[in-house]
Amino acid sequence: MKKNTQAKFKGGKEGYCNICGQYSQLTRDHIPPQGCVKPTSVELRTLTHYLSQLGEKPVNSQSGLNILSICGTCNNSLLGTEYDPELIAVTEQVARIVRVQKELGLSLPEKIDLIVKPQRLLRSVVGHILAGKLPIPGEPPMPAPFPDALRNYFLDQSSNISDRFEVYYWVYPSNKQIVINLLSIGSAMGEGSISSSCLLKFFPLAFWMVWDKPDSFSIDLTKISQDKFKGLDETCEIVLDLRNRPSFNYPEIPGEGRYIMCRNDSTFLVQPKKPKGFG
Ligand SMILES: [Zn+2]
Repeated sequence: MKKNTQAKFKGGKEGYCNICGQYSQLTRDHIPPQGCVKPTSVELRTLTHYLSQLGEKPVNSQSGLNILSICGTCNNSLLGTEYDPELIAVTEQVARIVRVQKELGLSLPEKIDLIVKPQRLLRSVVGHILAGKLPIPGEPPMPAPFPDALRNYFLDQSSNISDRFEVYYWVYPSNKQIVINLLSIGSAMGEGSISSSCLLKFFPLAFWMVWDKPDSFSIDLTKISQDKFKGLDETCEIVLDLRNRPSFNYPEIPGEGRYIMCRNDSTFLVQPKKPKGFG
């Protein structure tokens, strides 16, 4: 039987919110937010669809990746008002640098410092990752330690990110967008494995949150250390490495000796029909 790997991104108008779990009218979340990337005509695939190269047709969307998945309060009062402005401000700043580097061919310093409000920045990332999945009709989000930690962190402004998370980020100069709710990575080389992680990549940044990373599993990326997460509006400096970055497909195509496991319905790859500037 032919396996259907096509992306399903249309669901019910009412349902359980992916973030707070309340049953209500569902609202459409743009992933990433419209202030970061202008929604255009795109092709949607799941990661399985993308990797299998079965020649199955992608699903088209006229307005980027947008999913009816969260309630109005989580979408507008929290995500859009409280958290997205910080993600938009940070990505604008990085996009300017990356564009200048490409268009003018200027050589930039190897590293730059960015001032961010990590609590707001990360909650925006977490909110859009949680929204990046169709709710299961008639069922509230299934309780499990990893998604619960993401949801609780998003919803409780006074909380801190669980110290079981490592938060990695890097420059991602690609127009292809990826959101993965749950990504596991195994290794055949005795490094241990990552049971749970989640990923959001869009021009010009990628964020990867890894849960319970074994020390033996090496990830050669910069991270926002736990001690930088303080009050909601406290700022910190994070270093952005402009030269050393992983391959475009990292970590969803994890390289030799490692393999991934993910659920087909919680991964989206989004490719503009007419990419501009960056492939
Ligand atoms: Zn909600």
